Order: sequence, then C-alpha cells, then structure tokens
Amino acid sequence: MTKNDILDLKQHLATPKKVVIVPHKNPDGDAIGSTLGLYHYLKQNGHNVIAITPNDYPEFLKWIPGEDTILKYDEDTEKASKLIQQAELIFTLDFNTLQRTGNMESVLTSSNAIKIMIDHHQQPDNYAKYVYSDASICSTSQMIYHFIEMLDDVGSINSKIATSLYVGIMTDTGSFRFVLTTSTTHRVVADLIDKGADNASIHNNVYDNNSYNKLQLLGCALNNLKLVEGFNVSYISLSQNELNAFDFKKGDTEGIVNYALSLKSVIFAVIFIEDRKERIVKISLRSKGDFDVNTFARKYFNGGGHTNAAGGRSELDLKSTIEKFINILPNYKNDLKS
Ligand code: 5GP
Ligand code: MN
Repeated sequence: MTKNDILDLKQHLATPKKVVIVPHKNPDGDAIGSTLGLYHYLKQNGHNVIAITPNDYPEFLKWIPGEDTILKYDEDTEKASKLIQQAELIFTLDFNTLQRTGNMESVLTSSNAIKIMIDHHQQPDNYAKYVYSDASICSTSQMIYHFIEMLDDVGSINSKIATSLYVGIMTDTGSFRFVLTTSTTHRVVADLIDKGADNASIHNNVYDNNSYNKLQLLGCALNNLKLVEGFNVSYISLSQNELNAFDFKKGDTEGIVNYALSLKSVIFAVIFIEDRKERIVKISLRSKGDFDVNTFARKYFNGGGHTNAAGGRSELDLKSTIEKFINILPNYKNDLKS
C-alpha cells in the first residue's frame, strides 16, 4: 500500500461510509479476528459497518465481541446481497482471490464499491483498487493493526479491537510459534494486551472449550496417522463415517494436521477430510522449512495458501485422493526422502 493509497483511504474514511467487511469461506480465527477488529475500528469512527461471512464458523470463535452482529451470506442471502450492492467500500480480508468467498463471488464481482484487499497469502489476484498484501506477515489480524498504524490511529485501539486482533494473531501463529512470528508480532501483541486484550482468558476461550466428542475425534485421527515409507512425510485421514461417529462440528478438526507435522523428522504433513455433502475431500497441508506446500496445493489439489501452510480439495473419493497424493511424492524425492 503506497503513501498515496493511504492518503486516498484516509479521505474515503473521513466521512461516514457504508462499509462491508468480508472474510473467506469457512472463516478461521484470523479471518474472524481481523474482520471484527476492523469492524470495531470503523464502527468507532462513525461508519455504517456490517461484517458478512460466506458461511458459519466454529463455536470457539462465538464469544468475540461483536460476533453476534455478523451476517452469514448462506443463511441471509437476500439481505447480505442488498448490503453488498449498497456498499461504498468493501474490505476483503484474509484471502486474495474472490473464489475463496464461495457463493459470494458473483455479487462481490459485480458490486461497484471500492474494494480494499488486506491479506497475507501469496499471489494476490487483481480485483481490488487498494491492495495491502504481504506474505511475510503472520496474520491478516496483525496487518489490520499495521493498517490502523498507517492511518496514524493506533491510539484509538480499544479493548474490543485489541481482543479481536489478538485472537487472529494467536490462532494463525499457532500461539506465537510458527516461523512468521517475529519480534514485531510480539510487540504488536504486547500493545494489544496493553490496550485491553485479556490474553489468558482469550487462550482459555479458544483452546480450553473442547467437547468430549472433539477429543475422541482427535484420538481417532491420531489412530489413523500414517508415515509414508521412505519419505519424511506423514498423513492423517478422517472419513465421513468417522466424523459422524464423533458428532463432528465445524472447527473440530482444526489443528489436527499439526500433530502429524510434529513427528520427528517429518517435514511435510497432510490431513484428508472427507466431506460427503460437498462431494469433496478437504485437504490441509503443512510443512517445515523450505518445502513449499502452497505450490504443491496449487499444482495438484486446486488450492493454495502459504509456503508452510496451505489448503486444497479433491473430487476423487478419500482412498483415491490418498493414492494420488502418495503417487505424487516421488516427484519430490530430493526434497522429501529420508
Ligand atoms: P487450512 O489448511 O487451515 O484450511 O488452510 C491453511 C492455509 O491455506 C490458510 O492460510 C488458508 O487461508 C489457505 N487455504 C486453505 N484452503 C485454500 C484454498 O482452497 N485455496 C487457497 N488459495 N488457499 C487456501
Ligand atoms: Mn490468515
């Protein structure tokens, strides 16, 4: 984002505007955290703001201040579409290709609003007038902090903004341990605590509210953990029947892939999750070091993300998807061989 872009945006935001904020489909902690952080910031500045998610999100995010004002496009399509058509400014957060908004793609594409992208994924599309894209920053929530900083307004961050942004930074950094966690991240987070983010209770709300079924499902997933012979690669699969057996709820599988990556010497780990309703297998890919799962997900599984964390999908059945995956690995034998 150039100095001129910031001056432009300052001018746009100098008078009350109709603003819509949109994160990606199946929003995670960073998507909801950045959305609500920006929501509270703009609201405080007198704008008419509404956050619209493409669909629902996990229970462990349903306590963040302002969360109850979020409109879900798939549940309230008519109202949400109207608000998007009437919007003057649309902020798109934590994604960089409109495809990631699922069914919202066409109404967003046809809207005449000025679009602003704030995002930390690689290879942004070109749909927004103003683009703040930086794949070296751990989370979109940290970028919202820097965005407010560019507007010379850090002093106005209140406890609701701070709490929302803290959730996003904490979840996207695996609680401040992934590689993009920098000293700047820690300084931002320290300031958010000073501004009212209650860090201990935020951790508790997000991580210590597990259901019994969720932990049993984790047990099932760990039972299914496989090491690929001859490669520093592991994977986990969960079938729809297994998900049903433990009364799967959105968010219950989040983070499980990290157990596969935590195996000694494993540098590439994947989880395959069957979704019979959508007739796909949802894939999450994680790596350590240089192995680029963004490229891998783009090339073979219709997805993308970051170097060390990406997602994708397969339209084959679960078994065939795993076979396809295993058959690809020899192409990377120099990078992945034990
Ligand atoms: P997860 O595995 O947690 O769903 O996603 C890991 C990372 O990859 C996240 O940063 C997410 O935004 C990104 N990602 C997940 N699925 C997709 C996808 O289908 N396309 C793209 N471009 N990125 C994805
Ligand atoms: Mn993110």
